This record gives sequence, structure tokens and C-alpha cells, in this order.
Amino acid sequence: MAARPMPYLDELNPAQREAVETLDGPVLMLAGAGTGKTKALTARIVHLLNTGRAQPNEILAVTFTNKAAREMKNRVGRMLGQTVEGMPWLGTFHAICVKLLRRHAELVGLKSNFTILDTDDQIRLLKQLIQAANIDDKRWPARMLSSIIDGWKNKAWTPENLPASEGQAYNDRGPELYAQYQTRLRELNAVDFGDLLLHMVTIFQKHSDILAQYQRWFRYVLVDEYQDTNVAQYLWLRLIAAEHKNICCVGDDDQSIYGWRGAEVGNILKFEKDFPGAHVVRLEQNYRSTPHILAGASAVIAGNENRLGKTLWTEAEDGDKIRLIGHWDGEEEARWIGEDVEALQSGTRGKDPKSLEDMAILVRASHQMRAFEDRFLTIGLPYRVIGGPRFYERMEIRDAMAYFRVVTSPDDDLAFERIVNTPKRGLGNVAQQKIQTCARDHGLSLVEGARKLLELKGVGGKGAKELQLLIDGIDRWRALGVQREVEVPLNDEEVIDDGLTRTTTTFNSAQEALTHIELAEVILDESGYTAMWQNDKTPEAPGRLENLKELVKALESFENLQGFLEHVSLIMDNESEDTEEKISIMTLHAAKGLEFPVVFLPGWEDGLFPSQRSMDESGLKGLEEERRLAYVGITRAEEVCTISFAGNRRVFGQWQSQLPSRFIDELPEDHVEVLTAPGIYGGGYGAAAGDFGGGMQSRMQSANTYNSPGWKRMQDRAGERGISQPRESRGSVIDLEAVSSHSVGDRVFHQKFGYGEIMEIEGDKLVIEFDKAGEKKLVAKFVTAADD
Ligand code: ATP
Ligand code: MG
Repeated sequence: MAARPMPYLDELNPAQREAVETLDGPVLMLAGAGTGKTKALTARIVHLLNTGRAQPNEILAVTFTNKAAREMKNRVGRMLGQTVEGMPWLGTFHAICVKLLRRHAELVGLKSNFTILDTDDQIRLLKQLIQAANIDDKRWPARMLSSIIDGWKNKAWTPENLPASEGQAYNDRGPELYAQYQTRLRELNAVDFGDLLLHMVTIFQKHSDILAQYQRWFRYVLVDEYQDTNVAQYLWLRLIAAEHKNICCVGDDDQSIYGWRGAEVGNILKFEKDFPGAHVVRLEQNYRSTPHILAGASAVIAGNENRLGKTLWTEAEDGDKIRLIGHWDGEEEARWIGEDVEALQSGTRGKDPKSLEDMAILVRASHQMRAFEDRFLTIGLPYRVIGGPRFYERMEIRDAMAYFRVVTSPDDDLAFERIVNTPKRGLGNVAQQKIQTCARDHGLSLVEGARKLLELKGVGGKGAKELQLLIDGIDRWRALGVQREVEVPLNDEEVIDDGLTRTTTTFNSAQEALTHIELAEVILDESGYTAMWQNDKTPEAPGRLENLKELVKALESFENLQGFLEHVSLIMDNESEDTEEKISIMTLHAAKGLEFPVVFLPGWEDGLFPSQRSMDESGLKGLEEERRLAYVGITRAEEVCTISFAGNRRVFGQWQSQLPSRFIDELPEDHVEVLTAPGIYGGGYGAAAGDFGGGMQSRMQSANTYNSPGWKRMQDRAGERGISQPRESRGSVIDLEAVSSHSVGDRVFHQKFGYGEIMEIEGDKLVIEFDKAGEKKLVAKFVTAADD
């Protein structure tokens, strides 16, 4: 067979090539940021396929985030330049383990359609157990227990092999509650995040035949960001790679930033011991950042005592120095960054215009995001938030998904609890308690328990009727989900006399199948959930309805509801697929492995970054992890890196004066340009400039300066200038159909509801916000144009 062309090898330097072409045996690539570790890892996958060493499904590649997995998949596809049958197993530890666990769930007492709980569910469940154990959960919060249990899972400790040294955890009750929690999860046919790995490790350890099968199967294993693996992940990898030992790990000890979540940088340091004869490749040329940025990052990380130490160099042109700027407060910082982003975007300052896609704001703590989100909304700057509290964590989305879960996973009691009285069905605590008891007494899931309760006439009145409707609904939705080829509902819209429309669902056995998207809509409509928000008059309600629409839209890229729910429980980032350019806002933790031409690093203040906790801790461990985080932050930047701090910040509702971060002192003066905020303060004020670069004392001085009356005066002056006007809204575009003579925004009149304004036009129906009666959907012919 003629050798296929290998252009991807030409793009690599000799050290990278070595790492790519050493296909047999263990390989460790240990190198600093931006040296092309991930690039080489990707090329290695391509090379394995291209040389015929491995079939796609014989390759197991682990990335740290879903985003990274997606990018790697795309790159592999592009680099191969041809279609390969199938794709490697490429994903995060969690995504890969969930796939494997579905195949072997019964070995750990689960069914293959288990649900994955999120933190919220996990805490609710723990709370129940804590209360049942008569423990005061004010004193011993469920959250505390949840993080203890997570920690144990990260160390691959099951309740059975929990070391005696952990006996005192959670006021001596930790181990017993852990065991109960695991039992309860099994009953619910559910797992939490930590279980995904823990169960797989348990299965591999107990069933050597299954392990052997995967060892044979995954002939080549590749792991990115190896410095951030925890013990469970490490054990899992070692078990899988034990047979062929073709394992290639890449990482950087200076970028180990998940110690707080159980990651052990020691894993990377003992690789050579675990895999004797490992081929170690070091990379030193940085291809990402300009020399000033690289020098700044290197100087900061040099402050850590515990590190291997490495040299980094670049051939890149000089470029801009790291920009440093101090602000009055956090709002001001957000405002300045907003203006700077617009300036960079329009290419002022003699620079090429930059796309918003090329810019990122990396914060230490997610609460910092709010100021930016607010500011960007005001000025109409499109942004996306990656990671953190986000779309899928919003109340209405979680409610809707709980409905889907009840339909796809019959044993999902937590989901049922969430929806049983949402919308209000007159099934309050007492009724819910009865359902719980009945379910427990008969060993049933809550849905079945509720059915039983109805049979036994254990609830009466309105509640009974409503509960029956809900159970009937669930049965119907489940049937629709399962037998969609057989029974199909037709949505009939009946026009009622006064013009209100009502949706009824009838069934027949038409051939046309009900898709999961239609099913989702049916569930939300029939359950009354959508109507609940339609009737809600709070200002948030329209946004929530938008989100529900967005949710249904998101279903389109999945084959079924279960696939979608799985995806949601796994994703760390929720970028919408839209094409508008946006600036990204994310935490420093979420930014690992990424790169952007323009990076903003706000909030470099002691107590925020480094975090207060790391500063209070005795010893250097926490502080060094913070410093690595600073290194990760700076090294995300390719061309423009802006570090900022504020003199005042509102912390838990209280104004607090802030001290610039100690990491700012560690930036080498030669590589930093100190800016003032000319647009806002009239320029010429060199507070930060004057004080910069002189160690601790200077930080004290600059902090004092920022609190001085002079600063306050300037703040007042800035206030007098007023804030920038909002731009024209770039909000979501409503798809309008040109129907009748009405258009959105028109004033109309209706016999029964009076005056109102058209909010939306859907075919021949209008969504109208009536001045008195609120929002209604009406057939167009029943309203007339108002002449007020
Ligand atoms: P991090 O530690 O931040 O994860 P990394 O070591 O994984 O960084 P990559 O993201 O793989 O680094 O590469 C950084 C940048 O350098 C990318 O834009 C990549 O395309 C580029 N790059 C890597 N190797 C080369 C090379 N040999 N020639 C040119 N560009 C390269
Ligand atoms: Mg990388």
C-alpha cells in the first residue's frame, strides 16, 4: 500500500515529531504552556490512523473539557483530509465512562438507563438522608457532606474500602451516610458525577474478563492535561493501559489547577515510575504568545517553589507589552473593558480590527461575571458565558428537563419530586408525603407509588384528580416516546368563540412518527408547564418562555430525549450554535488549554486573586495553585493581555477596599505597560504607574491612592459624564410571517380583553400583551387595530 501523505508531520518541530512518531510504549510530553502539546497529541491520533497502526475504535483519547474534545475531533477530521470509518473514542473522562457504564451498569446494581444527577439533585438527596438521620443540617450542611463524598470518590474510595482514617468525617457520621447515599442512588437508578469513574474502576477491579476486553480493545491511549487527573481517573487509565502500555500523556506541572478537586500533580511526576522505560519528550518553543506575554507569565510562575522548572522561548515578534490598569471599582473595570473591546473591534489604535471571537475575559470567581454581563447587555455587546451557572441550570430549564426525565427514566424519583406540584396541582407537602410513604411501603418508584395511592384512594379532592391527570399524562408521554411508530397524536387547534385558542391532543394511528422534539412540546404543553409561565406576570416570565423555546431548539441536534439529557448532564459549556460573533467570558479554570488573541484578566486583587482562602491557609500549597492559575491566565493570550484591578469592590453587599494582587508585583516591569483610563478620568493620572513595581510597599501605596479623596473626586467626575447609551438592541430576532395587516408593536383592541400591543405573530395568530388582561394568544380576525 502506498504511504499516504503526512503533511501534518511537516507542521511539527523535531521534538513534537518524536512524540508523534514514537508509537509504541509509554510516552510523556511534559512541557510549558503553548508549546504544542495538544497539537502534537492530535497529530499522534492522526498518525496512528494514517499509518494503519490502529482502527479508529482502538484509540482512546481523553481531554479535559467537552469543548476540547469537540475541537480535537474537528482537527483530526481536517488533518486526515479524508473520511475515516468511525471516530476514535474521544471525550472527557466522564463522557467516556458514561458510555462504558451503560454497557455494564448491572454489575454495580444499576440499569443501563440510569440518570446522572447534578449537584442540585445530589444535595437534595443528601439533605433527605441527613434529616432522616436526625442530624442538624444547619450545623452540618448537606453541601459539606457532598464535597466530602466527592473527595472520597475522586480518590476511588467506595463505602466498602473507605480508610479508617476517614471515620471522623462529618461529625463521625460521614461513612455511614456515604453508604446510605450510594444505596439510595442505586434505588433511584442514578449516579452522580463521581460515580461514573468510581463505578468503572470498581467494575474493572472486580471483573478481570471485562477489563481484559477493554485492554485489548483500546490499544492506544492518549491523555491531555494529565497534570489534572485525580486518583480515580489515574487508576482507571492505568488499568486500561496495563496490557499494551501504549499510553501517551501530555501535561504541564505548572498548570495543575484542580488540586482543590482532588487532582494530583504527583500523577504526572511519577509517570516514569508507573511506566518504566517511558519516553519523555520536552518541548520548549512556545508558539502562542508574544515575548512580553511569555516573559510576564514565566516571571510569575518562577515565584513557585514546588515546580520542575522549564525554559520557554519564542521566535515571535516583540508585540505589545502586558497592559496593566487600575480602576475605581468593579463596575468601572467592566465599563473600561467594554469600551476597550469596542475599540479593538473597530480597529482603532492603528491595529487591525479584531473579532469578538478572538477575545476572552477570564475571571477568578464566577461572581465577577455579573458585572460584565450587565455591562455588555447595556451596550449591546454580544457575549457568551462558558461554564458556571448557565442556561441548563436555570429553573425553568431544570423543571422542563425533570419532565423529560420522568418520561425517559421511570425510576427517577428526584425528577418526579420536582415536577409533581409544578405547576401547582394542589399536591402540597402532605400529599407528597403520602406518595413517598406509599412508594416506600410497596417498594415502588414515586410514579408507581402515586398510582398505587390513587388506587387505594389515599388522596382525595382536587389533589386526587390532578394527580390522576399527571399520571395519565406521564403514561401517555412514555407511550408516545416508546411507540412513536404506532400511535401518533395530532395537534388540533380549536377556535373557541371568543377567539381564544385551545390546544387539544387527539390520537390516531397515523403513519407519521412523533419526533422527540414534538414529544417535548407535547409534554410541556399538556403538563401545563408552558401555560404556567404564560400566565405568570412577573418580569422574568417572558425570558423563561424564551428559554423553553431555546430548550426545544436544542433538542434538534439529538436523536432522542435520553441522548439529549445525557448530553446536558455532561456538558460544561453551553455554546449555542448560532453564528453571531461573541466575546467569551469564563473562569480561569475553564480556560485551560484554550488560546485567544486578546485576553482580559480582571480582578487581580488580593483576596480575590489570590483567593482569600489561599492567603489564609498556612503553607504555600494554596497560594502556589493560585499562582499557577495566574500563569494559565496570562499564557492564554496570544497578542494582547490586559490585567486589571479595582480599588473597591462590593463583596456580599458590602463595599470593601481592595489591594492590588501580589501577583502584580511579580510581573517584570520591562514587559508591562501601565495604562490609565483616559476616556474616563481625563488621562494623566498615573496612580498605578507611579506605584508600580516596588514590591509590597508599593501595593500598599497604590491601595491608599485608590481610596484617597482624589480618587473619589475623579469618580464623581466620571459619574457626571454619564454612562454610554445603550446601542440598538441586538436581541433575539422573532421570525415574523407576513400575515394580515398586523405587525409587531401595533396597538389592537379586543372585545373582551380591551387594548393591547402585538408582541408576536404566528401564522394567523397573534400574541398580544393586553394592558389589563396580560398576554393572550388570539386568532387575528378577532382583533381590530386600535386607533389610540
Ligand atoms: P497548553 O499548555 O496551554 O494546553 P499546548 O502545549 O497544548 O498549550 P497547543 O495549544 O497545542 O499548546 O499549541 C499552542 C499554539 O501553538 C497553537 O496555536 C498551535 O497551533 C501552535 N503550534 C504548536 N506547535 C506548532 C508548530 N510546530 N509550529 C507552529 N505552530 C505550532
Ligand atoms: Mg493543550
